[in-house]
Amino acid sequence: MLNRRHLLVGATAASAFATFGPALAKAPLASAQVAGIHRRKIGAIEVTAILDGVAPLGAQLFSGKPAADIKAALEAQGMTESLPTSVNAFVVNTGDKTWLIDAGIGANQAFGPNLGRVEANLKAAGIDPAQIDGVILTHAHADHAEGLITATGSARFPNAEVIIHEAEAAFWADDGIMSRAPAEAKPFFESARKSLAPYAARTRKVKAGEVAPGLVLEHAPGHTPGHSVLRVTSGSEQLLLIGDIMHNTAIHTALPDAGFAFDGDPAVAAASRKRIFDMISTDGMLVAGTHVGFPGFGRVLKSGQAYRWVAAEWAYTL
Ligand SMILES: [Zn+2]
Repeated sequence: MLNRRHLLVGATAASAFATFGPALAKAPLASAQVAGIHRRKIGAIEVTAILDGVAPLGAQLFSGKPAADIKAALEAQGMTESLPTSVNAFVVNTGDKTWLIDAGIGANQAFGPNLGRVEANLKAAGIDPAQIDGVILTHAHADHAEGLITATGSARFPNAEVIIHEAEAAFWADDGIMSRAPAEAKPFFESARKSLAPYAARTRKVKAGEVAPGLVLEHAPGHTPGHSVLRVTSGSEQLLLIGDIMHNTAIHTALPDAGFAFDGDPAVAAASRKRIFDMISTDGMLVAGTHVGFPGFGRVLKSGQAYRWVAAEWAYTL
């Protein structure tokens, strides 16, 4: 245990050393960030956040609320209308199986060059794609699912099954819905189909419920028809992986009704968001979000009529 005397003795020693210390040498700038990985334990389960990269989003992508209110929500958290937004995936190692929750954007360059790093960051975490037993998708948008495939369209995870809510799989596979969709929505269908195709023979289309020991999928539609969150439970501890329930921690906590440009049905998405925010704020539950600043862990707390986000501390030990 440190006390004041220890600190004073330490300070004296440090200043004496500085007098005779070596001259500071110049060093080259690193000019690159460290690997995007961060681990924490949920009971006996190890969860590793894996950074795919950063997408250059902005306040103009949020809708359904006056622009001034959106700007005010951002300013209250020290943010501007430029919103570099994290894309995170998560490895859940239960001890028996290694699951990847969402897979990043892969080779798709729709959001620029600073994404597509799931495989490199898995490697930095000591995880080979062949070790992944299953990829559980919160939904099949490109930034969650295209990392399933390589640049040439083959399966990046040779031994993985894919687990996806049946409503999500059915929606993107529906030729009728695709043919009636507006032109700008067509690439979303093409992306989902391309990502899922190599896994067709090893895809588990599920309803809400337990998909593996300790892992429960819960339907939270609106962003997409089958959008789901995943509850990880071990012993007395829980983590909720909330996928795209929240696209910005300042806007969506202050204005949970705000829509997001890629919401299929903004009103249904808002209803899911409020239901989940109510649950996690009542329970004080630890959550992790795909688009919450890396590593994405934290809590949503009640604040007046709305909510606020509190990032979790770094997990110093496991
Ligand atoms: Zn997303």
